[in-house]
Amino acid sequence: MCWRCFSNSNISHPEAPLEALPGASSRRGFLNHWGAGLGLAALVHADAQAQVDVGQSSSMRKLIPAESLEQSARQQYRQTLSEANSKGALAPDDYPQLKRLRAIANQLIPFTSQWNPDARKWKWEVNLIGSKQLNAWCMPGGKIAFYTGILDQLQLTDDEVAMIMGHEMAHALREHARERLAKSKATSMGLSVASQLLGLGQLGDVAANVGTQLLTLKYSRDDETEADLVGLEIAARGGFKPEASVQLWKKMLGATGGGKGQPSFLSTHPSGNNRIQELEANLPKVAHLYEQARQNPAGTQLN
Ligand SMILES: [Zn+2]
Repeated sequence: MCWRCFSNSNISHPEAPLEALPGASSRRGFLNHWGAGLGLAALVHADAQAQVDVGQSSSMRKLIPAESLEQSARQQYRQTLSEANSKGALAPDDYPQLKRLRAIANQLIPFTSQWNPDARKWKWEVNLIGSKQLNAWCMPGGKIAFYTGILDQLQLTDDEVAMIMGHEMAHALREHARERLAKSKATSMGLSVASQLLGLGQLGDVAANVGTQLLTLKYSRDDETEADLVGLEIAARGGFKPEASVQLWKKMLGATGGGKGQPSFLSTHPSGNNRIQELEANLPKVAHLYEQARQNPAGTQLN
């Protein structure tokens, strides 16, 4: 997961060394938008009602204009890709692992807008970066990156990749970064939530230059749980086996020493076991979505 979702001793810094990808010479033209998932409403069949219960998004987030934040995210995304590209660590479009990631994203994107109607307008992008980090993230506005480390070290199946991708998409859809920034700004200004909401309007300047903050924000445990459940549902609707979410976290626990020793991602995040229990409790809620998707894969036949 994004290192903030999954911070541990392996991931001490978001800017871990990049590693050149075999067969991936520096590529040009990678800035093309990859715009799958447009005009797909018709493909999203019945039962659009959310099955997992995560409540409403925080209204605090509205203090930060979504557009400014998304623009800032776009800039940061370009910069990250550009840096990787200059080191031969950005996977080209025909790189098999990248094609696989994009195919999985195509299956999930049709089921994102029910969590955030604005996502219909997002220009989703998925890229793969060469690095040993167990890392993946989705910036506001749908800019996704996976690191080769998480795919290779955990030997992820497609179902497991879909769970990670759904989780990261959920952070963006539920606007957790926007919420975190709004809350930290309100706190630093010494203002109450009420005075912010009633008097000051939007804090456009906060979103203008967040830059690398987007790569270092830490989400709350509640955000993480929410992302787990929303991601689980999106992946199930996309035709990915819900049980893979549990398998994924077991692998994560194995890869990070089961929480023994310090530091561990378990010290700052919901414990792996709690996470697994929460996911297991929610499997029955999404089982029928997975079955429906398997029987009628209309939403999965996307370019
Ligand atoms: Zn997370």
